[in-house]
Amino acid sequence: MINSTNEIISFDDTETAFSYKNNSELAKAHLLFTLMNNNALVRIATRLTPWAIRSGLPVKGLVRKTIFSQFCGGESLEQTNAVIDILSKHGVGVILDYGVEGKEEEAEFEKATQAFINSMIFAGKHSNIPFVSVKLTGLTSFSLLERVSNKETLTGLDQTQWQKAKDRLNRIANVASEHGVSLMIDAEESWIQNAIDWLCEEMMIRFNTKRAVVINTIQLYRHDRLQYLKEAYSRLAAYPIIQGYKLVRGAYMEKERRRAADLGYASPIQPNKEQCDRDYNLAIDFCMQHLDRVLVCIASHNEYSNKYAAEKAVKQHIERNHRHLHFSQLLGMSDNITFNLAKAGFNITKYLPYGPVGDVIPYLMRRAQENTSVAGQTGRELSLIRKERKRRKKTH
Ligand SMILES: Cc1cc2nc3c(=O)[nH]c(=O)nc-3n(C[C@H](O)[C@H](O)[C@H](O)COP(=O)(O)OP(=O)(O)OC[C@H]3O[C@@H](n4cnc5c(N)ncnc54)[C@H](O)[C@@H]3O)c2cc1C
Repeated sequence: MINSTNEIISFDDTETAFSYKNNSELAKAHLLFTLMNNNALVRIATRLTPWAIRSGLPVKGLVRKTIFSQFCGGESLEQTNAVIDILSKHGVGVILDYGVEGKEEEAEFEKATQAFINSMIFAGKHSNIPFVSVKLTGLTSFSLLERVSNKETLTGLDQTQWQKAKDRLNRIANVASEHGVSLMIDAEESWIQNAIDWLCEEMMIRFNTKRAVVINTIQLYRHDRLQYLKEAYSRLAAYPIIQGYKLVRGAYMEKERRRAADLGYASPIQPNKEQCDRDYNLAIDFCMQHLDRVLVCIASHNEYSNKYAAEKAVKQHIERNHRHLHFSQLLGMSDNITFNLAKAGFNITKYLPYGPVGDVIPYLMRRAQENTSVAGQTGRELSLIRKERKRRKKTH
């Protein structure tokens, strides 16, 4: 797709971006992003909503019709079919995400394991669901991941539970492997990430001999992660496997900074956004240099990074649909990037969470916070939606 300014790819085409939304759906998205542009409202709503849901107040209906329908695929796997079909018609795939998090009971971890396995089987039946995302905090307790990350000596019970966590992940990966699906393991808070990395490396060696079944996530808002990526690559290069990396900037910046300040250690976060962007784009360079041995997923709403990777592929004569080159955005965000990359022939997916409204609240609250005018994303979303509504009014 070469446009008049000789750009290889443009994200300005809002007709393509929103062709999957009818006028009333677009009007609804407009209203939602306008509300999220109000910082005071978002501050209050993100505090009150989780409390109201926990207290059993009748707010689920309102959440379901507004923020849930914008950012989630449905409350059950079956309900996601409608969104999956629409995306498929536009050449867009799906990263399926069972969005339940923050549980602490063994019975809940077992339930989540079964839900992930069901997701894998479901994904295996759909040609446009190559990936299912898995959160380690859905499979074992946060505090145990923290103790493992700190290399603490595990007591008897901890040892049993850690073994159970590994077994759960292995069960999920086995089903993924059998059904031709890959599992993307989410990156979480820095103080539990060592445990996640160690497991991912172990699992890549076991499962990635023919293709990238297990994919780790690298958060480039941390100043040490480009280095980790390079070191992990070298460590694993000794094995005949395809390594898998999803590149993100990172979702817990404020929490990371706050904890570092409270506990008096140096913040793991980059000193500024420029350094974060620089490392992100260097990570793209690194992975694209090794596409023979690395599957990379550029998971970002940053137009520059997406364009940078897409143009790099074109200039270096890498096939646009190279099986190791993927792009992804969250459902409900940056449709201009997603649908224009799809139109240009790249492998592109939407991250599609599903689960009961009450359970996906933490995910939805992060989306609301990320979309305030302070965080910057709403401005982008609103101006694109306004541009498309104006265009439609003119042409009809
Ligand atoms: C498909 C997909 C999967 C994801 N999976 C995960 C995951 O597993 N784990 C996870 O943590 N996040 C995940 N995210 C969220 C992601 O980390 C970001 O929060 C979000 O995408 C915003 O970053 P961006 O690249 O889109 O771009 P931008 O809008 O360009 O960047 C915003 C991001 O830059 C960083 N940033 C902002 N200001 C500064 C600063 N002053 N200094 C340093 N850094 C700064 C922050 O990370 C912020 O979120 C995922 C996102 C997508 C699209």
